[in-house]
Amino acid sequence: MKRILMTAAALSLATSGMALAKGGVTEADIAGDDANTSQVVTNGMGRHLQRFSPLDQINKDNVADMVPAWAFSFGGEKQRGQEAQPLIYDGVMYVTGSYSRLYAIDLKTGEEIWQYDARLPEGILPCCDVVNRGAAIYGDKIYFGTLDARIVALDLKSGKVVWKKKIADYKAGYSYTAAPLIVKGLIITGNSGGEFGIVGEVQARDAETGEMVWTRPVIEGHMGTLNGKESTMTGTLNATWPGDMWKTGGGATWLGGSYDAETDTIVFGAGNPAPWNSHLRAAGEPSEGNKGDNLYAASRIGMDPATGEIKWHYQTTPREGWDYDGVNEVVAYEGSDGEKRWATADRNGFFYVLNREDGKFVSATPFVKDISWATGIDDEGRPEFVEDNRPGNPASAADGKKGETIFAVPSFLGGKNWMPMAFSQNTKMFYVPSNEWGMDIWNEPITYKKGAAYLGAGFTIKPLFEDHIGSLKAIDPVSGDIKWEYKNAAPLWSGVMTTAGGLVFLGTPEGHFKALDDETGEVLWQFQTGSGIVGQPVTWDMDGNQYIAVASGWGGAVPLWGGEVAKQVKYLNQGGSVWVFKLPRKMASAN
Ligand code: CA
Repeated sequence: MKRILMTAAALSLATSGMALAKGGVTEADIAGDDANTSQVVTNGMGRHLQRFSPLDQINKDNVADMVPAWAFSFGGEKQRGQEAQPLIYDGVMYVTGSYSRLYAIDLKTGEEIWQYDARLPEGILPCCDVVNRGAAIYGDKIYFGTLDARIVALDLKSGKVVWKKKIADYKAGYSYTAAPLIVKGLIITGNSGGEFGIVGEVQARDAETGEMVWTRPVIEGHMGTLNGKESTMTGTLNATWPGDMWKTGGGATWLGGSYDAETDTIVFGAGNPAPWNSHLRAAGEPSEGNKGDNLYAASRIGMDPATGEIKWHYQTTPREGWDYDGVNEVVAYEGSDGEKRWATADRNGFFYVLNREDGKFVSATPFVKDISWATGIDDEGRPEFVEDNRPGNPASAADGKKGETIFAVPSFLGGKNWMPMAFSQNTKMFYVPSNEWGMDIWNEPITYKKGAAYLGAGFTIKPLFEDHIGSLKAIDPVSGDIKWEYKNAAPLWSGVMTTAGGLVFLGTPEGHFKALDDETGEVLWQFQTGSGIVGQPVTWDMDGNQYIAVASGWGGAVPLWGGEVAKQVKYLNQGGSVWVFKLPRKMASAN
């Protein structure tokens, strides 16, 4: 009797230490998510974030007949931006809503199974709306981050809290909005708060217990940890940062990461260096080399998932000064030339291709018009800066209060912001939701104060063209050529999805969910969802039918920060719902 008890105790200890998944979603499920059409258990519809489905029941020939299956309201008076990607598992949709809410919905009926509403404290500091971009499932738990910078593990079946951990101090400006990443029993998160002088960091926890395994700050000079002890310093202290500026250096890792099993690498992006006023972060004259680059802000960073050690980095905007965060998703793919690469469409307006093995620069091409801050990217991957298009130094101004105002393209909301692009394995093209806009921007003096905006800049966003800001582009990553463009009046802020049915799905702030021909950009179907779409579509099959879902609910950064553009789109109504579509019964069975 005693011996059996001891064995059970030893077994339970071993299990918790090894973070084995208890039933439910396994590492193999996550690794095979891109090919398994009956579920969507990863952010990005597969760890490579391609957002491509092999399903083709709904296709170019029949999508015009697609109809709603059901819709679900997130309820309450809490609406605003709904940026989530739903997850689909075992007959249930799991979708997050604004204000850190999570819903489990019966896939067949659209009825609620449970709802979790995080009790947010007064004084949270989300910079860019009260959004959440999705959850992660592993074992018998579902995980998501909250606006007060916590990560919560809930029981998949009941929605009851299993554990809850603090990522960082929300009073210092930290928050959390990204979908977490699961790799081999670890739950890996970034942080948000780049406009408050926080320090970007990636954290890995045992998914079973929530216990911290490693931390990796992404600003040079800060120390990482492994199993509760100091591991290594990030970069070399003061190699690219002057004085103490690195201590509040920004680089928020706010959009989460991707994982490539072939190279066993996780990739996270780091946001703008803080403050925005780049003159405060300069180290000597530009002629003195690259001392003022401010690593690893505005960079993509490849890391070892077991230890958090940095394997490689690629900085898109050295000494960034326009809020061109380097966080946008890095998608692993194989192009028409058979080469395995990474691709990423940066806030700064350039579409980059990087080598899969070591993150080395391969190519960069502009994907928006009239880029003003650089004339191009040189063979080494370094921007060819237009120094006159850097906002002026206030210290050089007569009154010392306001530097010279310049008109910069893209605007700080980017040639592309957070909204994920998709890759089609059929066409080998990327479908990039972009925006054509610029801004007046100027620098001001600023000193760091905990919990206060740390910008040292003022700005007003303006459209570039009369008829459109939004522009969905089909880009061949091998040549960088733009094959077609679909223009939209309002700025695009929704994710994109491609399918083997030859379709590209996209939502607009005007409320339309659209299906486009992947070869021509022709709109083949659209549906008015009642509020602006800033969510991320998914698709799956169930009982022989293909389904497509997207969240609807206008919000995000544009209405809050969009300057003249925000005024133009003020008429758009808020909302909060998720819509599910399918073919009419007869058509689905005829296929
Ligand atoms: Ca930023």
